[in-house]
Amino acid sequence: MEVRCSLCGRKEVIKKTHKDYQRLAKNPNAVYFCKMCQMKLQHDASEYNKPKKPIG
Ligand SMILES: [Zn+2]
Repeated sequence: MEVRCSLCGRKEVIKKTHKDYQRLAKNPNAVYFCKMCQMKLQHDASEYNKPKKPIG
């Protein structure tokens, strides 16, 4: 099944074994992120969750 990354628009083909296959098969408009963007999002999330620098 061909899917498109919701973030960068990159097209990818996923197999039935893909963790998001069932979700996307049921709802083709569901949000999908390619591996690159998933990594980026995880990185951004970890940056966001880092404690802020102490003031002063
Ligand atoms: Zn992407």
